[in-house]
Amino acid sequence: MLHRILKIVLDIPLDFIFDYRWIGEEVAIPRVGQLALVPFGRRKLMGLIVEVGDSTDVDPAKLKNVIAVRSQIGPLSCQWLALCNFAASYYQRPLGEVVIPGLPKNLRAEKTMALDRALKKLTKTADNQDPALWDVPKLNPAQQRAADTIACTPGFSSYLLYGVTGSGKTEVYLQAAAKILDSGSNTQVLILVPEINLTPQLEGNIRARFPNIRLATLHSGLAEGERMMHWLAAHQGQARIILGTRLAILASLPQLKLIIVDEEHDLSYKQQEGLRYSARDLAVWRAHQLTIPIVLGSATPSLESWCHVSSGRYQILELRERAVKNAELPVIKLVDVERDRPIEGLTSTLMSAIKMRLDRGEQSLLFLNRRGYAPVLSCDACGWVSNCTRCTAFMVLHKPERRLRCHHCSLELRVPRDCPTCSNVDLQPLGRGTQRLEEGLRTRFPEARILRIDADSTRLKGAAQVAFDMVHRGEVDILIGTQMVAKGHDFQNLTLVGIVNPDTALFSQDYRASERLFAQLMQVAGRAGRIARREGGNLSEVLVQTRYPNHPLYAAVVTHDYDHFADGLLKERQQACLPPYIFQALLRAEAKELHVAINFLLRAKDCMAYGGITLNDPIPMTITRVANVDRAQLLVECASRSVLQAFLKIWLVALEEIKSTAKWSLEVDPVDI
Ligand SMILES: [Zn+2]
Ligand SMILES: [Zn+2]
Repeated sequence: MLHRILKIVLDIPLDFIFDYRWIGEEVAIPRVGQLALVPFGRRKLMGLIVEVGDSTDVDPAKLKNVIAVRSQIGPLSCQWLALCNFAASYYQRPLGEVVIPGLPKNLRAEKTMALDRALKKLTKTADNQDPALWDVPKLNPAQQRAADTIACTPGFSSYLLYGVTGSGKTEVYLQAAAKILDSGSNTQVLILVPEINLTPQLEGNIRARFPNIRLATLHSGLAEGERMMHWLAAHQGQARIILGTRLAILASLPQLKLIIVDEEHDLSYKQQEGLRYSARDLAVWRAHQLTIPIVLGSATPSLESWCHVSSGRYQILELRERAVKNAELPVIKLVDVERDRPIEGLTSTLMSAIKMRLDRGEQSLLFLNRRGYAPVLSCDACGWVSNCTRCTAFMVLHKPERRLRCHHCSLELRVPRDCPTCSNVDLQPLGRGTQRLEEGLRTRFPEARILRIDADSTRLKGAAQVAFDMVHRGEVDILIGTQMVAKGHDFQNLTLVGIVNPDTALFSQDYRASERLFAQLMQVAGRAGRIARREGGNLSEVLVQTRYPNHPLYAAVVTHDYDHFADGLLKERQQACLPPYIFQALLRAEAKELHVAINFLLRAKDCMAYGGITLNDPIPMTITRVANVDRAQLLVECASRSVLQAFLKIWLVALEEIKSTAKWSLEVDPVDI
């Protein structure tokens, strides 16, 4: 019998590696990258072996034995471990918190029944893994150039695939992927998308295009059993195309040869709790480490990526035209709501445009990024408003459900019959959400088939798909939607997009708001006119209702001119010393009382001075109180990424020493400030 000392990381909130003793036969000596079940206090935990050796500083009497090693599956590769190590170190979290939660639950379980069953099922299904292409659409010259460049990259290269909506980016991904899959018998391609349920067309397209290749999806919507099958198929190299959301970037992919990040500017790539990583940034790191190409695709790239293009770090591949012949970009017009006063949220210009589509049998989409009926209910008599009792926010009126709902803490109340303070029965909704817009439209166009798609109307599993299918089948004349309808869909008969009330984002204190608004408007506008215009037919139209028709952002939207807009924003960011020209980290604290949170941050600020680091004053967060917890934040800034990283490592140790009841967390490269 042999003895070994295994160094093992566990998913506990401590940055520590534990030593365990392993005893067994020589043939079974564990390897780095294998999972091992170990005793931890009274519990049994699944850990990852990061080192196999002979010596330990632990008192032999206290050293515990490994319970079992999961030898049924091959070890995770050292490249994968390096990726996790990088993520842990960069985002300042314990390695165990990166490594373990990313694994399927069934793999972490004490019992191995589920794992054994999954492995059996996987070995049974023999795959014919020949990418053999059928009916491949012909690419236009720009698409062809892009696909060839990507597929023929000899090592690492970061490409920004910059293409207007409808320019056929997906086709470039698929044909580049086909070449990579063809280049070796077991090569793998990873495709990341912001939200898989909103892009079902992509999954269908991939399956249709590569009927003989095993596709695995990885996202949080999968049932545990499925998730384990898919993860294992990827880990064992059986799945050669992996389509997933941000969490898929941490999957084990031993033969990864190409990474594609679709809609790279999308905020969904940023994890907002626990390990607050950016899947896009990790993807670039992973591609670099593996010396493989990576493609970041967008019609409105993030300013970070745009900046990397001008500095030469990323290579740009441009698609300036829509892929479908005669499918021209829609005409975007501004409607001044000071001159054309909206009734029920709609100007007469937008009304007659909708009417015209109804007459012609075409579809319209009305975009309003605010769900519910009205954002607040109020009493004219005494000034009462529907404040949430637990948050610094209004409770939103949901009229069909007869509820007031807080969108921050999920508190729900029945709509009061009369004013809680003065008993006035005439309570007024203020502002407009999608439900109210729908109500108004039903009155004005009683004969039209109207459908609302938002988080409320699609709460039930599968409801979103049913709704989108109805639109695609032409069973809807007017579609009303939030950002849910903006992504990915090719609505074949849609020729009008009305943007109801985009102004609120113009004057946000978040300096990223205008970049996001622009991206959102271009994305929604891009839903229109995706098909070839009929002979003598009309151009598709996008109408933007605004109080500020002279705002430079709208001028850029009208001319579809992202380039100049982005260049201008970057100049502003440079002058104001904002990202991507400096690097930031955000320390957040929360407590039952605001002063406790602020006090903690003040001490965090004062506990250390460090050359090149700016520690700003703590401030309450915009929505200070959520679910009876007060929240504040402290912004850390530095001109150098490496100096910031070095500082954070020391600072975190000092923060642990501060005695406070405040809970705190640190985010590197925050996107929501
Ligand atoms: Zn009142
Ligand atoms: Zn609330």
